[in-house]
Amino acid sequence: MNMEIVQAEIEKIKKIVAENQTFMITTHHNSDGDAMGAATAMAEVLRQMGKTVKIILPNDFPAFYKWLHGVDQIINYERSPKDAQAFLANTQVEICLDFNSLGRIDRLETELTKTERQRIIIDHHLGLDMPATATISVPEASSTCELLYHVLQACGYGAFINKDVAESIYTGILTDTGRLDYSSSYSAVYQVVGALVDMGIRKTYIHDNIYNVYNYNRMNLLATVLKENLVYLPEYHAAYITITLKNQKEYKFQLGDSEGFVNIPLQISDVKFCALFTEYEKSQVKVSLRSKGNFPASSFATDYFMGGGHFNAAGGRFTGSLQEAIATFCNGLKQYKDKL
Ligand code: 5GP
Ligand code: MN
Repeated sequence: MNMEIVQAEIEKIKKIVAENQTFMITTHHNSDGDAMGAATAMAEVLRQMGKTVKIILPNDFPAFYKWLHGVDQIINYERSPKDAQAFLANTQVEICLDFNSLGRIDRLETELTKTERQRIIIDHHLGLDMPATATISVPEASSTCELLYHVLQACGYGAFINKDVAESIYTGILTDTGRLDYSSSYSAVYQVVGALVDMGIRKTYIHDNIYNVYNYNRMNLLATVLKENLVYLPEYHAAYITITLKNQKEYKFQLGDSEGFVNIPLQISDVKFCALFTEYEKSQVKVSLRSKGNFPASSFATDYFMGGGHFNAAGGRFTGSLQEAIATFCNGLKQYKDKL
């Protein structure tokens, strides 16, 4: 495992932090546990340093991250653009966590491109595609949170990793590795987890708050999707599931309700590649892709769904009907058959 953090970039981060007072932190739209964990951890470290800091998210985040420290101060750009703009008017530094391209922050992108500010990026996605004053990009890292832990230590900010920061960092490692299932076959990630456990993180509390939070509708949505909407394609070692608008209406779909669904078809032993298609209004389809082993989900996402991500976990979007998105997926399977 090559987690090489460029020392020159660490020096730049230290200089930027030392010389500035007001920081905004952002992360990708539909923030997941790694995004939320990294943003809240970074914010708490800067607050302890006496900096003025706000997290501005492109849109809302799932309710099962509401227990994270500091989330009550988050600005949701989609809901409160004026509050975001008021803070950004005096912001000196943008810290971009867990995303590799400005297209991943929706309309918040315009706020980051209309003013020249210093920018720090800490990310673990393939194909970094945005400029910054200081960049730490390590696709080999399990999660941005793990990477952030190493960056904080390298900067000499280890003393600011208190229990709240530790719980945020643990959240990112836990969720981005599927509870230490994938992207975590190297000892360094366990050493970080060990250090966090030693700091007294509430491990069971965190797991309960993230995973054991289904309401009856959400459980029935999962049951319906698996019973009625799972398609198995043994000739391609592939499978896909769909969540239609009708399913969402029937089970009062809320942000985060389909979290984790995409991974389930990979539990079929000979499935190497799977997809989750989520239907939205106005002919928009969100596509999530997961693979096992050497099948490149990321390049499939780039080739067919205007997306990208990690080698084994990627995503993108499609404009058209659900059926057309599925047809595009099936056509892609034919093209990629030799890799399946
Ligand atoms: P998920 O399927 O959980 O939404 O996303 C899995 C991974 O795919 C994310 O970590 C992200 O790297 C990538 N991803 C998801 N949606 C998009 C997208 O629309 N564009 C790009 N470039 N990457 C995406
Ligand atoms: Mn991540």
